[in-house]
Amino acid sequence: MPRRIPTRVLLLLGALAMTAACGSSPADSAPSSDGRSRAGGNDTGTQVDLTRLKGVNIVSESSADRSCPWATSYPDVPGADAMTAAMKKDVEMRLAGFLGEDLGGPANCGGATESEGPELNVSFSFLVASGDVLGVRLATVDRTSNADGLGTKVYWYDGAAKKHRPSPGLIADDSRDAFVAALKKRLEKREGVIPDTITALDEQESRDSYLDDMAFTADGDLKVDFNRGTVGVPAAGRISVTLPGATVTPWLSDFGSRAQRQTTDPDDKLDLGATHTPAPTVAAQPHPGEDTTDCSKVKCIALTFDDGPAAPETGTLLKYLAQYKARATFFVVGQNVAAHPDIVRAEMKSGHEIANHSWNHPVLTNLTPAQVRSQLERTNAAIKTATGQEPTLFRPPYGAIDDKVRAATSLSPALWDVDTLDWKFHDPAKVAQTAISQAEPNDVVLVHDIHPTSVAAIPEVLRTLTARGYHFVTVSHLRATL
Ligand code: ZN
Repeated sequence: MPRRIPTRVLLLLGALAMTAACGSSPADSAPSSDGRSRAGGNDTGTQVDLTRLKGVNIVSESSADRSCPWATSYPDVPGADAMTAAMKKDVEMRLAGFLGEDLGGPANCGGATESEGPELNVSFSFLVASGDVLGVRLATVDRTSNADGLGTKVYWYDGAAKKHRPSPGLIADDSRDAFVAALKKRLEKREGVIPDTITALDEQESRDSYLDDMAFTADGDLKVDFNRGTVGVPAAGRISVTLPGATVTPWLSDFGSRAQRQTTDPDDKLDLGATHTPAPTVAAQPHPGEDTTDCSKVKCIALTFDDGPAAPETGTLLKYLAQYKARATFFVVGQNVAAHPDIVRAEMKSGHEIANHSWNHPVLTNLTPAQVRSQLERTNAAIKTATGQEPTLFRPPYGAIDDKVRAATSLSPALWDVDTLDWKFHDPAKVAQTAISQAEPNDVVLVHDIHPTSVAAIPEVLRTLTARGYHFVTVSHLRATL
């Protein structure tokens, strides 16, 4: 893969490139017009330390349905409610479109057939979280027949004005025309750009939707990213234009100037003037000591919790498990580990196993081997940072695995025997009933600790199965003693 991006720019764009790497649609595999390939397994991570974002909550939803896989995730940062609401609205609209709900029919995965490999994935990365400026990019990979692959959008929050600012708000109103003229001049020289479409930048309404991904580089230049098929022919892929800082700085709005400054020279911390009290930290429960359970002699169950960690659900779950001296395995998603390393540490200190569930929950079989490696290695690194230990197991999202995925990692795959379908029911009684009625000795049971209703089902599961003589062990312990 060509690597011509300066290191400082890479730091800023690492998260985007990483997310882009999760898709393998034509949009991603074609080089963008500035010659950079977006298909590489770039793994530089975000430059924003998420643990500084006190009280941040990652809002995750996903299906576990292999025939219609979708996973969405966006951050809820205390104090930035208007921006969170804008992301929520966009994510819900994307999901409804993917499921075909906007067609008035039942969920149909956008009409895609299974052979087309439909998938929706919305993941996030922080661009700036400093002073009174917050910048978040959502990256959407939509693999349905009518969708165009990767789409990105940057959301800005102005803590001083307490306002969500769409990307065009970085430019002062009276400088928009000059800014757009400069953009068009650069676009006109690009291969694949359709002259007629860039005239849409002159119209206020289409301008705002075209210019929805604008962010500064570490040097203070302004980079504008256009989704595939907006200003160019689809075959040209994504197109980006970078305006030098010297050119763009005079055109910036007051907020744009602050966003630029907090990108090039960030303050130590984020202060959005939030009045929220951050959620209490998740405490580790007493470690039950070495596990001497012999699953070849007694009945064991391996409860597994996917897609977390999540606050406060995971903390509540740890308390329930401790009450029954039960151990479990947590298949964590890397982007959530980076936001909540304290919770993952508490899981480990409470005697549970931590395992890898990818960075942002893509269908791994849709990715290249380099992208699969990147998904798993990046998550391993986040787990190691949080706990000091690397996992040995991974669970492919949706259970989607093939020889290519297996060959891309030395981690051992771990699927499940019982699916509680908790992501679908959102009903504690039904989730508990499914787990209890279907579990047999030495089964691995799939639950998701991102849903309060799933966590609420666990006391009943622990109570009933303990009474029936079951022991709750980790997946690795089950394998080691069978
Ligand atoms: Zn999952």
